[in-house]
Amino acid sequence: MKVLVINAGSSSLKYQLYDMRDESVLASGRVERIGMDSSIVTHEPADKPEVRDVSEILDHVTAVKRVIDMLTHPDHGALESMKEIDAVGHRIVHGGEVFKGSVLVTQEVKNEIRRLFDLAPLHNPAHMMGITAVEANMPGVPQVVVFDTAFHQTMPKTSYLYPIPKVLYRRHKIRRYGFHGTSHAYVSDMAAKVLGKPLDTLKMVTCHIGNGASCAAIQDGKTLDTSMGMTPLEGLMMGTRSGDIDPAIVPFVMNKEELSLNEVNSMLNKHSGMLAISGISSDMREVTEAMNDGDENAKLAFDMYTYRLKKYIGAYAAAMNGIDVLIFTAGVGENSVALRETVCQGITFLGIELDLELNAQRSKEARVISTPSSRVKVMVVPTNEELLIARDTYSIVKEAQ
Ligand code: ADP
Repeated sequence: MKVLVINAGSSSLKYQLYDMRDESVLASGRVERIGMDSSIVTHEPADKPEVRDVSEILDHVTAVKRVIDMLTHPDHGALESMKEIDAVGHRIVHGGEVFKGSVLVTQEVKNEIRRLFDLAPLHNPAHMMGITAVEANMPGVPQVVVFDTAFHQTMPKTSYLYPIPKVLYRRHKIRRYGFHGTSHAYVSDMAAKVLGKPLDTLKMVTCHIGNGASCAAIQDGKTLDTSMGMTPLEGLMMGTRSGDIDPAIVPFVMNKEELSLNEVNSMLNKHSGMLAISGISSDMREVTEAMNDGDENAKLAFDMYTYRLKKYIGAYAAAMNGIDVLIFTAGVGENSVALRETVCQGITFLGIELDLELNAQRSKEARVISTPSSRVKVMVVPTNEELLIARDTYSIVKEAQ
């Protein structure tokens, strides 16, 4: 079975084509600047050179058509015909409380995703455009939706309710949902496999540290708590997002700076975090480089970023009354030797002993980077959200056949 995985944004669409017999990637790519002039398609076939194409792509229907053209192209394609695509899997950011796992797309599922537009106004409408664009181009091909929030639906009320009037939860479903669920699920499962231990016997803290960042406390293979909240703004300090702040800052700033709600929202989401503190960049590579060159603001940003991460790991170890495995993943988590070293050297009281040499080694494999005597296993597990979406799509479509 061949599965096409799609991650549709408002002006972009990323794709990956999998052969599920061996889970190999046949081709991947992205369409950028949808709806603007000179849209760019970058197509990467597995065994041929990358192809770039600039043209006008005004909507998602045309974007999906261009993806199919690329995938079936006689020179750089990976398929002879579109008919070889057996199923399509979509990443959906918000599944609210309705979706506790991945599902086949039906009219009712589409209606539910539309009802959730309020909770993810930037993401879910774009995902919906992706679904309808596939319907238009590939009628009859089964589609599956995989939600960023679904894995965290096991959280108990103590974790997911906010201590605010309950009517707000009843009326508007204001609660913690958490995000990056596909990644937390993938890396926790992979870590248990590498350790050769049943997932449901382990207490894990998974740290997905990319541009967006979140931690999760995973006990018995289920999320007990996670740092992102009703939206992806809460929790850790991130590239451009503030993470946790005193909520009273919002009305105070609106008043003092005469800012609108939208302006404050944009300030906290796009102009805060590492970018604001370093004054240099939201990119960990650039901040680390500046710090190593002696830039004090970069050092402060790095120190705050790692300090806040350390606090969450400690909090989750307390929430689970222990920790067996600490996992780092995503762009920063997988690549920043300095971040892992700083965080782990500051929480040795938990029974964490990092092996500095193993930590400094580069590899694309899931691996243990703690010493043999470390009570807590520290691991780097490269995430693969697309593969998990392909796997869910494959098993759901196979079962429905
Ligand atoms: P996204 O949340 O957009 O998926 P990624 O998981 O790709 O983000 O992570 C992007 C982040 O990873 C950037 O801050 C980038 O600087 C960081 N990163 C990538 N490679 C390295 C590296 N070698 N060292 C430190 N940080 C890195």
